[in-house]
Amino acid sequence: MNKSRQLDIERIAESVRDECNVTDYGFQNIFEAAEKAGYRVIRYPIGVDGFLGFALIKDSERIIFSNSSQILSREIFSIAHEIGHHKLHLSEIENPIIKDDDFIDRDENETEANYFAACLLMPYEKVMKFIRLELNEKNPDKFNGLDIARIQTAFNVSYDMVLVRLRTLNIISDSKQNALKLEKAINTATKLLNAINGNLDLCKSSEAKKIPAEYLEWVISNYNEKLIPKKSLETAFNYLDLDADDFEEQSESEAIEEDIEEDIEDLFRRMD
Ligand SMILES: [Zn+2]
Repeated sequence: MNKSRQLDIERIAESVRDECNVTDYGFQNIFEAAEKAGYRVIRYPIGVDGFLGFALIKDSERIIFSNSSQILSREIFSIAHEIGHHKLHLSEIENPIIKDDDFIDRDENETEANYFAACLLMPYEKVMKFIRLELNEKNPDKFNGLDIARIQTAFNVSYDMVLVRLRTLNIISDSKQNALKLEKAINTATKLLNAINGNLDLCKSSEAKKIPAEYLEWVISNYNEKLIPKKSLETAFNYLDLDADDFEEQSESEAIEEDIEEDIEDLFRRMD
């Protein structure tokens, strides 16, 4: 990745932040922000050993999947990385899907998506602003684990990501990065976050099950049109821990469209 490509990626990341109206240091809720930016976000806990996510264009819909068995700060990174693939690499005909088993920089696309995610979640200016205003211009050589936990909470990212970003931006040295890594190994990120009253959720997996409303609606209408068997309806509902039988009992009595719509609304309420 040469300098001009880096700057291009930075500009694109900046435009996504603008599009999502991120005025804080970090995204308050990147899942909602991605949806507002036009992506269909699917979150599902497929296990800690499962793949991390994918970016897909299907029938001109831009879809992002993230594995919610990852700890939340890593899942947030996944969403940012997949937005990067959408912005930089996917095209409907030639390259409609990229799946990520990990986020290792194994080729140019992965390096770029990681760079995009870093710029999106922790833009240079915002990092400098945080150090200036929130850490009172503290000398980065004197940063300790608590400072990193504060940055982590402001930007909603993992402890390790803060270290990598500070190192990439040349704010801390290699040896400082290693010392701070060691501090985390001893204290754990959870304890450090606890000490500053930070966002502890970042260190846990959410196990969220979130499927765009339209998909469920689509499955239900296909079932009502008798285009798919009950089994498929059940599978779709099981994904969301819903019971297809409940739906059927309610809708069979008066299978008119308004009722179905109410049922759907009811289901969504239960999903919340
Ligand atoms: Zn990737």
